[in-house]
Amino acid sequence: MFETKVKSYRNLNHELIEVQTDKGSFVTKQLIISAGLWVNEVLSDFKLPLVIQKNSVAWFENNDKEYQIGNMPCFLVEYDTGKYTYGFPNALGTGVKIGLHLQGPVY
Ligand SMILES: Cc1cc2nc3c(=O)[nH]c(=O)nc-3n(C[C@H](O)[C@H](O)[C@H](O)COP(=O)(O)OP(=O)(O)OC[C@H]3O[C@@H](n4cnc5c(N)ncnc54)[C@H](O)[C@@H]3O)c2cc1C
Repeated sequence: MFETKVKSYRNLNHELIEVQTDKGSFVTKQLIISAGLWVNEVLSDFKLPLVIQKNSVAWFENNDKEYQIGNMPCFLVEYDTGKYTYGFPNALGTGVKIGLHLQGPVY
C-alpha cells in the first residue's frame, strides 16, 4: 500500500499482528519492517542500537566512452584511514555516480 503511514502494531495473539495505519487497521501473520532511516521511530519499543548516518551521493552527466559501463570499473577507495569514496560508471545514461562512504553526520 502506498501513501499509508504505520502508526503502531501489536500482537493480537501468538499468531496474528494488528497494524494500525492512517488508513485503517490490518491483521497479518507476519510483519516485515523496512522503514529505512525511520527505523528507530517505527521500532522505538525495541530500543535497538541502530545508528542513522546521512551520506551524500552525486551523479555527474558524462557521456565520454571511458566512463561508460564496460569501460569504467565500480570502485571503492580508502583514500585516508577510515575514509572511503566509491563510484559506478554511467549505466545506460544514468550518469557517473560518486559517493562518500560512512562519513556523514550521525543522527
Ligand atoms: C548514500 C547511499 C547510497 C546508496 N547507493 C546504493 C546503490 O547504488 N545501489 C543500491 O542497491 N543501494 C544503494 N544504497 C542502499 C539503498 O538505498 C538502501 O539499501 C535501500 O534504499 C533500503 O531500502 P528500504 O526500503 O529498506 O529503506 P528506504 O528506501 O529508506 O525506505 C523506507 C521507507 O519507509 C517509509 N516509512 C518510514 N516510516 C514509515 C511509517 N511509519 N509508515 C509507513 N512507511 C514508513 C519511508 O517513507 C520510506 O519510503 C545506498 C544507500 C545510501 C545511504
